[in-house]
Amino acid sequence: MTYGELYRWGERELLSAGIGESGLEARLLLEYVCGTNRNDLLVHGDRIVEDDRQTLYGNLVGKRRDRIPLQHLTGEQEFMGLTFLVNEHVLIPRQDTEILVEEVLRNLHDGMRVLDMGTGSGCILISLLHYSNHCEGVGTDISEEALAVAEKNAERLLGRERIAGGLQTARSAGEAGEHGEADRERGALERTDDGSIRFVRSDLFEKISGKFDIIVSNPPYIRSDVIGTLMPEVREHEPLQALDGGADGLDFYRRIIRESRKYLSGGGMLFFEIGYDQGEAVSSLLDENRFLEVQVAKDYAGLDRVVYGTRRFD
Ligand code: GLN
Repeated sequence: MTYGELYRWGERELLSAGIGESGLEARLLLEYVCGTNRNDLLVHGDRIVEDDRQTLYGNLVGKRRDRIPLQHLTGEQEFMGLTFLVNEHVLIPRQDTEILVEEVLRNLHDGMRVLDMGTGSGCILISLLHYSNHCEGVGTDISEEALAVAEKNAERLLGRERIAGGLQTARSAGEAGEHGEADRERGALERTDDGSIRFVRSDLFEKISGKFDIIVSNPPYIRSDVIGTLMPEVREHEPLQALDGGADGLDFYRRIIRESRKYLSGGGMLFFEIGYDQGEAVSSLLDENRFLEVQVAKDYAGLDRVVYGTRRFD
């Protein structure tokens, strides 16, 4: 078959499986398999595609019909103009989260110390460090497999030399043993050189010390009873740990807000991504914990998406 025929076949297959953006996804899969770009469909649509590539494309279209997320098939997702590696151990970076990064960037100055709570793929922290100068970043996650992904992304996007203490998860994810954990624990305590990034396995603040100018988090915030209604791509293929925010979805906001005071410098800021209906609840939690200048920012759809506040000096 030709490139164009394969594309049209893939689009039909995905459409009949009820995939919304069937044309776009068929094209992206074909580009992934053939190493091509958008232009090729227009200019080289009549080229014959090699048999092995046709077979691979057929397999991937089949997997996508089975609701495996496109990003798990290609292994990557664009975020803030950067390409992040992803797998089933991390939340796939969402476009909405770019709003959070942009709000933080407006308040991030050279040399600041930033903590990203629940870093997942590392997309928030790595973007912040990529678009600023000499900031020091610490990313935490409870999942060692997620930290392995974050570290790989930091290596690719920021450079190995910026990873404090060197790579700890170069071995395959899941095999990290006690050695890695001991290193991480030590890493959590040391202050690093300018501009460095480090990842710490920690249940929220458990292994964190020192003060930060900015704490940012896109915590799990979906109500437990809503998880079952999510799209199969999310429900069956993304880590539950990254999604489930407890009975009212606010568990992690409560814990992070309460504990963050100890880890924020006076005048330091706490930023959260939130669900569209959580603006008031999370703002109140910040108010109750004596944060100042609590604000809600909206996403491009006009929905509440980010809440932030400033720790008072005392
Ligand atoms: N910080 C990561 C992101 O925003 C992961 C967030 C999460 O797992 N809840 O994509």
